[in-house]
Formats: sequence, C-alpha cells, structure tokens
Amino acid sequence: MKKVSVLGSTGSIGTQTLDIIRRDSENFSVSALAAGSNVALLEEQAREFKPKIVAVASADAAKDLKTRLSDTDILVLSGEEGLCEAAAIEDADITLGAIVGIAGLKPVLSAIEKGKDIALANKETLVTAGDIVMAKAKEKNVKILPVDSEHSAIFQCLDGRSDLNKIYLTASGGPFFGKKKADLESVTLKDALKHPTWSMGAKITIDSASLANKGLEVIEATHLFGVTADKIEVVVHRQSIVHSMVEFKDGAIIAQLGSADMRTPISVALNYPDRSEVSGKLLDIFNVGSLTFEKPDTDTFRMLALAFKATKAGGTMPTVLNGANEEAVSAFLNGKCRFLDIADIVEGAMENHKIKEKPALSDIFDADREARDFVKAKFNL
Ligand code: NAD
Ligand code: MG
Repeated sequence: MKKVSVLGSTGSIGTQTLDIIRRDSENFSVSALAAGSNVALLEEQAREFKPKIVAVASADAAKDLKTRLSDTDILVLSGEEGLCEAAAIEDADITLGAIVGIAGLKPVLSAIEKGKDIALANKETLVTAGDIVMAKAKEKNVKILPVDSEHSAIFQCLDGRSDLNKIYLTASGGPFFGKKKADLESVTLKDALKHPTWSMGAKITIDSASLANKGLEVIEATHLFGVTADKIEVVVHRQSIVHSMVEFKDGAIIAQLGSADMRTPISVALNYPDRSEVSGKLLDIFNVGSLTFEKPDTDTFRMLALAFKATKAGGTMPTVLNGANEEAVSAFLNGKCRFLDIADIVEGAMENHKIKEKPALSDIFDADREARDFVKAKFNL
C-alpha cells in the first residue's frame, strides 16, 4: 500500500490523481490533502479519502472547513506552514505536487526534507529553484518522478540512461498555432482558454497558448535530466500523440506515445517502478493518421525565446521569468492586459533584473517578489 499526500487536490491534476487512487484503493491511500480555497470540494474529498490532514491556503477557508469536518477527526491546517505539514506528513510514502505556481515550491521542499519521493506536476518548482530542489533530493535520496506528460515521456525513454544526444520536447502549438503577431492583437480570454488537445487548469492553459508553458518545460527538463538547454529541441506536434522523444549518441530516437490523458503520466509516477492499469481511453494506433513535426515560431510566440534566454542567463533569471509570467497571466485572466502584453511584461521584468548567481532560497523568493512588484508598478496591474 502506497500512502500519498496530494497537494493541489482540487485542481485538474489533483482530481485526476484522486481518480486513480479511487480506482486502485488496494494499492493506494491518501494521507493528506492540500489546496487553495475550494472548501466544498475539499470536504467531499476528505470524507471520501479520509486523510489525516487537510490543509488550505487561507485561514478563512480553514475556519469554514473545520466547521464542515467537525464530526471527523481530520486535522485542518492553514497557511504555508499547514501546506508544508501536509506535504511532509510522516505517514506518506510519496507526495504529489500539483499546486500551481511558485506557491508549490515550499511544500515540495518540505516533503523532500522529510525523505518523501515526489511525483512532480508543479513545474514552477523546478523553474524557480531547480538547483536547490534537485540537490536536496540527491542529499535525501529522494526520487523526483515527473508528472508533466513530456517529462514523463522523456523519463520513460531514458529508462535510467544519461548518454543522450538530444531531447525532442513536443508542443501541441496551442490554440493560436499558425497565427502571426497581427492575428493575436485582439484575441480574447475565451480564445486563449480553448486548448486543442489537453484539458487543464486556467494558468497552464494560457501558458500553452503563449508557449510560455513550453518555455517553462525546457527549464524543467534541464533540471530533471541534467542537460543544458542547447540539448533540448522544441518540436511542434499538433496531434499530441508523441509525448516527447530522446535521441541517443548512436542515432536511435526513442519516443513515448499514448492518448492525451494525464492519468497515464500520473500513474507512471505513482506506480514507479511498476505499471498499473489506467481507466482512460487507450490510443487506437490505427486511427492516429499522420503525425507531423515542425519548428516553433519563436518570433510570434516570444515567451519560448524568453525562456531559453532566461535559462541561459541562469541564476535568478528563470525565477524572474516565472514570477513576471504568473503576474501577467493573472492580469490577463482578470481582463487587465492583452494577450500580447504577457511577453512584453515578462521581457520588461527580465531586462530590469540584476542576476544573482547561485541563489539561496531567500534570493529566489526575493527575485520572485521583485519581479512581481516591478510588473505591478510598471504595467499598472
Ligand atoms: P489547477 O488550477 O487546476 O489546480 C491548481 C491546484 O492548486 C488547486 O487545487 C488549487 O486549489 C491549488 N492552489 C492554487 N494556489 C494555491 C495556493 N496558494 N496554496 C495552495 N494551493 C493552491 O492547475 P492544474 O492544471 O492542476 O496544474 C497544477 C500544476 O501541474 C501546475 O504547476 C501545472 O503547470 C502542472 N501541470 C498540469 C497539467 C495538466 O494537465 N493540468 C499538465 C502538466 C503539468
Ligand atoms: Mg506538459
């Protein structure tokens, strides 16, 4: 029996994870749940999965949840401390990190500190503090098992090897594939939220439309697989059937294919090194049709180019890219800026930043705050 702490349990990845656990209750149970503020769903999840701890971001939400769960012996915690306690709960064998944004960083770090293996969906954790997280994982002998579909694919293709030539990181291209800058001047939030192949949370859906998501994934891959960004080639693959590929030194390219269903990579991470049945629709290989591979248009989708720039610059720069992007996406979601402003805002924050090399965790949070403050002041958000 594997005991799981599920961080971000009310979100897209969190609910799919609980679905896997629900259908495989002989092998999995839930030790802790943590999320932002959806107390109604958290109550439902707590009653079904009977964790020891449920943590929520705000004190108000915790108060509400405490009342709702007063007939149970489930401990309700709040704030960063509560989230970290849920993440690192003694009882758990593995912690699934699916909180969105840098908010997921500290809980994941506390789980690593307590020796929990990590099933990691929250890419912002590695983008902002990849060196610290990977070093801590090594020190504590903790496995970081990728949940992001492309990274799960690369992980499966590598199968423990490191003698790779190149990683082909696939991208669907998002809803605006083929469009040029002029076409994107007036796109709406509704247009940007229409992802062609994946159904996901709002922030990552906007990141997929701007290709910021692919940029964050390039940085995520450098940390997970110990390579520099020049070994990573982003390839637009509209069908989302090949989830990424690895080219080895001898010229062999290994790819991982499957339907666009996050339950497969979640299951790979939770069951590692074993494999288990997943309830979703399996890929019908005879109905796939043709598979296409193209170069991304980084002149139009500037967030991808900015992410390469940030990872090459190193130090605190990826943190600034991420913090500014989180603020810009939140502004776009709230109707306070246009889609094309996102890249301008992020570029502005990066140009303003003085890199700190080899940052400590406090430097990471300082850089994140600086980027957010800069963006809010300069762009009036
Ligand atoms: P989502 O918006 O659907 O869910 C986010 C979860 O985080 C929710 O449970 C929310 O309550 C919680 N949360 C948000 N802010 C919080 C805070 N301050 N404190 C505590 N909890 C907080 O997002 P998602 O699509 O499930 O994505 C989660 C993470 O997984 C992201 O980092 C995303 O990039 C990554 N990811 C998602 C997918 C996908 O298919 N959805 C695929 C790959 C990677
Ligand atoms: Mg992905």
